[in-house]
Amino acid sequence: MLSKKIAENLNRSSWIRAMFEEGEKLRGIHGADKVFDFTLGNPDTEPPDSIREAYKKMINGTNPGIHRYMNNAGFVDVREAVASQLSKEFGVALAAGHIVMTCGAAGGLNVVLKAILDPGDEVIILAPYFVEYMFYIDNHGGKPVVVNTSAEDFQPDANEIAAAVTAKTKAVIINSPNNPTGVVYSKQALQSMAAALAEKEKEFNSTIYVISDEPYNKIFYEDTPPPQILDIFKNSFMITSFSKSLSLPGERIGYIAANPSMDSCKEIVDGLVFCNRTLGFVNAPALVQKVIAGSLDEGAAVEQYKEKRDILYDHLVKLGFSCIKPEGAFYFFPQALIPDDVEFARAALKYNLLLVPGKGFGWPGCFRISYCVSMKTIKDSFPAFEALVSEIRG
Ligand code: PLP
Repeated sequence: MLSKKIAENLNRSSWIRAMFEEGEKLRGIHGADKVFDFTLGNPDTEPPDSIREAYKKMINGTNPGIHRYMNNAGFVDVREAVASQLSKEFGVALAAGHIVMTCGAAGGLNVVLKAILDPGDEVIILAPYFVEYMFYIDNHGGKPVVVNTSAEDFQPDANEIAAAVTAKTKAVIINSPNNPTGVVYSKQALQSMAAALAEKEKEFNSTIYVISDEPYNKIFYEDTPPPQILDIFKNSFMITSFSKSLSLPGERIGYIAANPSMDSCKEIVDGLVFCNRTLGFVNAPALVQKVIAGSLDEGAAVEQYKEKRDILYDHLVKLGFSCIKPEGAFYFFPQALIPDDVEFARAALKYNLLLVPGKGFGWPGCFRISYCVSMKTIKDSFPAFEALVSEIRG
């Protein structure tokens, strides 16, 4: 029999999954090309050629020991390569000792939370949020505390965050570029947040870690990259992966960079490595560690995503949707045309249009469109969006 908690969680299972399953049903009835599935953040783009070539080289090469157990933090040469790339990009002096290779960003988040949380510790998450945070925090005995971002622009609000901090607050998770809004948190908002957290640390004589979940940090549409959090927050972890930037979500590869200026950094990294081992990951998959080490300069398919963003954004606006133009990631988070976002997503199903209600991200009234799908799906979906809007507007 399942544990009570897991049985309960299954019942509350994610809206994204629920809509995806609806899609499977519709695909069975109408055929895949008649269903416009905007539910999953599973890139339709293939990984760059350099990745295929690197795999071939690794498999065909004679690299003794490549398939063996290794240091639980990952191969030293790979961590050195990651550290030097980050030092170059961020201007922060990082070494292999600050990097832990992980099973994707999800693995990294669980490792950090396991390493820092005591039972009952609170972790602030910012709504709208990636729903898995709730489960990851709970995995390690923590308690999620939800703070809304600004309703105007989905930027973090330092005063709201400060008001939610208690003596038990151990961490704040931030995610920029953001899933589900596509918003990039501004440097100014992050600096205000850093100042507010520093005040609260003084008040409670505590350490509040900032865990920056950044699987989309290579997918941005403005000229300047998103602000670097290691510069802004002293006690911080940057967690990223190659799932979205190199379209490798199934390979489960990412890493944690611990801020060298955090208190007791060496001890903290030892804790991360221990947790990578004892959570049962043991280490990140060997082959793909070596593969990505040679592709750290490789950019994401930003131009393709930008083209998709622009064409879909123009169409949504033309149809009267109110929506922030995303500056990163590959999601839109428009307002539903009726107050009930679940009812809105249900109405869309009639036109084989699969959308995720905002309720699933702790933000009812909106819905998420994931546009990491083919351009054909986007263009073919226009009549379905039009029919949905006509039905609702009568
Ligand atoms: N964090 C966010 C905000 C995500 O959207 C995702 C995946 O969709 C993840 C973490 C997990 O990424 P990964 O596949 O690298 O574990």
